[in-house]
Amino acid sequence: MSNKAFILIDYTVDFVATDGKLTVGEPGQKLEKSIVAKIRETIANEGLILAVNDLHKEHDQHHPEHSLFPPHNIEGTEGRKLFGEVDDVLKQMEKDHPGKVIRLDKRRYSAFCGTPLELILRQENIQVIELAGVCTDICVFHTAVDAYNKGFQVIIDESAVASFNQKAHEVALEHFKSVMGFDVKRRG
Ligand code: ZN
Repeated sequence: MSNKAFILIDYTVDFVATDGKLTVGEPGQKLEKSIVAKIRETIANEGLILAVNDLHKEHDQHHPEHSLFPPHNIEGTEGRKLFGEVDDVLKQMEKDHPGKVIRLDKRRYSAFCGTPLELILRQENIQVIELAGVCTDICVFHTAVDAYNKGFQVIIDESAVASFNQKAHEVALEHFKSVMGFDVKRRG
C-alpha cells in the first residue's frame, strides 16, 4: 500500500480536445502520453488515482464562473469525458484494479472544494500527492493552494500540466516551487 496518490484534474474533452468548449488545445493534448504513463506507474506502485472533474449545470447564472467563461463540462455531455487514451486506460484500470481509481465531481476550481477528496486521502493515509491536468494556473493552482494549506507534500511534473496561457503557466510553476516548496519537475 503506497502513501501516494495521483490526482488528475479536468483532463476532459471540453478542456483538452481541439473542439472542446473551453480548450487548452495543443499544450493540453501534449500531456496525454505522460498522464497515461503516470496512471500505469501509480497502479503498478499500488497508489491511488483520483480523477476530479468540473461538473456544471446549464444556465447556472449564480455560479461564479458564469460571467467569466463559456459553458463547459455540462452534466451529461461528452465534454465531461476524459480526453483520448487517458479515458480508455483509466476505464481499464477501474475494471482491473477495483477501488484504486476514484472519480469525483467538483463545482469550483479546487478539487478540495465541496468534495470528499481530503476525507479520502486521510482515510487512505496518503501524505504525498502528485497533481496533473489543466489548467496549471487555474484548477491545478487552486487545488495546489488547498493541498499546501492542508499540509500535503505535493509533486508537480511539467510534462503533466498545461494552460492556454503560457505566461500564467510559468508563473504558477515558479510559485509552486519558490513559494510553496513543492517538488516541481521541469523538462530538460
Ligand atoms: Zn468550470
